[in-house]
Amino acid sequence: MNAFAQSLLFALAAAFANILGGVIVSSGNWAYRSLRYFVALGSGFMLGTVFLEMLPESLTLTNSAPVLLLVGYLIVHTFEHTFASHLHFGVETHHEEVVNPIVGISALIGMIVHTFFDGVAIGAGFMISPRVGILIFLAVLLHKIPDGFTIASIVITSGHSKGKALAGASALGGSTLVGVLAVHLLGGSVLLTYALPISAGSTLYVAATDLIPEVNREKGVKMAIVVFAGMGLFLMARAIARM
Ligand SMILES: [Zn+2]
Ligand SMILES: [Zn+2]
Repeated sequence: MNAFAQSLLFALAAAFANILGGVIVSSGNWAYRSLRYFVALGSGFMLGTVFLEMLPESLTLTNSAPVLLLVGYLIVHTFEHTFASHLHFGVETHHEEVVNPIVGISALIGMIVHTFFDGVAIGAGFMISPRVGILIFLAVLLHKIPDGFTIASIVITSGHSKGKALAGASALGGSTLVGVLAVHLLGGSVLLTYALPISAGSTLYVAATDLIPEVNREKGVKMAIVVFAGMGLFLMARAIARM
């Protein structure tokens, strides 16, 4: 199987997790409680992946890696928090601020840009090696259910139907696949070397600016420890991948 087929297959699994996140919005309290662990575990795993895999690999690809990392970070920031009027991770509880249907649409656009780079990260990882690809896939997968849950929750709170919420979560899955496709279309061009550092920046944004604040909102040290567990899980996965 070539790198494109591998990355498409894994991105399909990640896209499915987006949809799953959309489905569990209507399934009650237990889902919300377990979602918090995915957010904390995912943020730790993603931080490990960015700093110990994506960044070192990016530096071997291009001297411009640091500036591209910043570009990736700022792209997601621009769409998620400059254009989107209300977007944060987890269950939507600010009903009075979110009643405008436009809020749901702007949040969806912001999230679609973020999930596009989820796909770019997976595609670029598999271009380097199956080992790097699988580590990035795992980092992406762990926060995919919260991705889907978040958008479905905002779409419903902003006054749209449950069907629209599920369509929104599916759109996130679709844009992940488009991200993989975009990397493949770059083929052997020089732009391909930009895909990993840019998606490293976007992954850093999602981990440190979207997910960690949600972890910090929880009282007590339990959730903070789960972040370290996520980091430990990454180190374990990396050790297994190197065997
Ligand atoms: Zn809110
Ligand atoms: Zn994501």
